Amino acid sequence: MSTVTAEDKPSRPGRAPYLRIATEEAFAPPEMIDIYRKILAKSDVDPGFKGLMGFYMSSPSARARHIMRCLTDLDQLRLQHMDECGIDMQVIALTAPGVQVMDKATAVSFSQLANDQLAEAVRKHPTRFVGMIAVAPQDPTAAAKEIERGVTRLGMNSVVINSHTQGEYLSDPKFWDIFAAAESHNVPIYLHPNSLPANMIQPFQACGLDGAIYGFGVETGLHALRIITAGVFDRFPRLQLIIGHMGEALPFWAYRLDYMHRATVLSQRYESMKPIKKKPSDYLRENFFITNSGVAWEPAIKFSQSILGVDRVLYAMDYPYQYQVDEVIAMDNMAMSAQDKKKFFQTNAQAVFKIA
Ligand code: MN
Repeated sequence: MSTVTAEDKPSRPGRAPYLRIATEEAFAPPEMIDIYRKILAKSDVDPGFKGLMGFYMSSPSARARHIMRCLTDLDQLRLQHMDECGIDMQVIALTAPGVQVMDKATAVSFSQLANDQLAEAVRKHPTRFVGMIAVAPQDPTAAAKEIERGVTRLGMNSVVINSHTQGEYLSDPKFWDIFAAAESHNVPIYLHPNSLPANMIQPFQACGLDGAIYGFGVETGLHALRIITAGVFDRFPRLQLIIGHMGEALPFWAYRLDYMHRATVLSQRYESMKPIKKKPSDYLRENFFITNSGVAWEPAIKFSQSILGVDRVLYAMDYPYQYQVDEVIAMDNMAMSAQDKKKFFQTNAQAVFKIA
């Protein structure tokens, strides 16, 4: 057994010539946990939801209990953790799966309650917190109205959607009122991971790879690609999406996606894959921002900057799921120009989330 000495402990991040704005940070109102408890008690509970929130809400492990305590705090505990690792501001979203696992009526009303709670916390700590608007895709008309209310009444300038909604994807035109609202109000949608849908999870869960380790990235990357190939950005050219975890690996896939998308369209192999105006990678460059949530890894960040441009790659921590002081220090120490590092940590987030 090794002992931890003072030398082994990472030092606290010091002041930097930029603000550190973390852009994929999570919260959960206690009232949502109560709703989740009722859903988890049902006999036909979704296996992904059971595996994710069922675990965090019932596990006696120190990690799970700590995460639940942090998730439900929008005040001193969160601020203390931000201070300890040098985070100036958090952009906060309702944690996955948010309201998307609820029945339609509950989802619509709870999204409003969650947004009111978050707006109140932002009013109390306006220099530390920024809020994202949670919506219920189960009711696209209500979701569009909530985006309008979030922007015009609550002062929020971004939307969070936790990937699929009970197995359904935003590539389905029935959801496109949500895209229309986001585009017309000029607010980006953060497409955050969700646990895998029931028809996808088995081979991942059987070997423990369904969660943040791999499955989340596969499923959210798939979702983003479905949105691209369905022609959403031809219909809504000014729409902007944000995806985390280094763009769920899509920048790394860009070449093959472009080649095979063209080949597949030309072969007329799938009714569902129709021509779109640009290459998949063009939409990645023009309609997506990505964050490095969960990936404090300089080579991946620089590669993504080289594909999407330095204005489209943002810093995120993924608090409280990946609360690592040493990662903040590693990001501070990246070999990168002072100008690009300030974009990464601060000014890109200020532009994307309209932070004054
Ligand atoms: Mn996250």
